[in-house]
Amino acid sequence: MNYCDLNSLLRKILRVLEEKQVELNRMDANIGDGDHGRTIVNAFRNVLKQTQDFKYENAAEGLIKIGRILAFSTGAAAGPLFGSAFMEAGKKVKGKEKLILENWADALKGAAEGVIKRGKANIGDKTMLDTLHPAAEALVNSVQEGDSLEQGLTKALEMAKKGMESTKDLISKRGRSSRLGERTKGHIDPGAASSYYILEVIIKNCLEKG
Ligand code: ADP
Ligand code: MG
Repeated sequence: MNYCDLNSLLRKILRVLEEKQVELNRMDANIGDGDHGRTIVNAFRNVLKQTQDFKYENAAEGLIKIGRILAFSTGAAAGPLFGSAFMEAGKKVKGKEKLILENWADALKGAAEGVIKRGKANIGDKTMLDTLHPAAEALVNSVQEGDSLEQGLTKALEMAKKGMESTKDLISKRGRSSRLGERTKGHIDPGAASSYYILEVIIKNCLEKG
């Protein structure tokens, strides 16, 4: 990732989140307070604004910078959670110039750990962790199996999607939606959906660039 790459990647993320904003608000209205789309769009607008003149050496610096801005850019629960995910992902790939499959596995593991550390969620609690953890696990498996970067990232994205969809049948145990208990069944978790959309842009961007 160079300076231009970060800027164009963030623009792509923002464009997709803007497209999905109404859908994400609706998902959150089903089981929460209906603000998730707006929250995440505003958070990434803020990131884009604050990284215009930011110069950095490698992916880790970019990820950590994004994480710090996200963590402080919103009053909703999602800001600090996404902030921790990006910051911890960045810390795991410090000093790496080009990310190989192993680095991606470490970064995604870091992202999942960041969310756990911040939000104390378990897998299956119907949160963004249910998207991030299966992706991290798929990457770790791919490293063990000797997959190419392309194979590994493709599998990770598939597993992230399945994980996101799996939240539909789960009962929320964390955050605002946990108050609704059983009534959250039948609805996809908005944070699981937005993390999938963000991850999809990041992975597809990498696959296109090779
Ligand atoms: P708020 O709940 O403050 O309105 P958002 O609507 O922006 O915040 O974000 C809600 C999302 O945050 C949920 O869909 C869920 O994925 C995620 N979330 C909430 N609490 C936690 C937690 N403790 N751990 C992990 N993720 C969480
Ligand atoms: Mg909300």
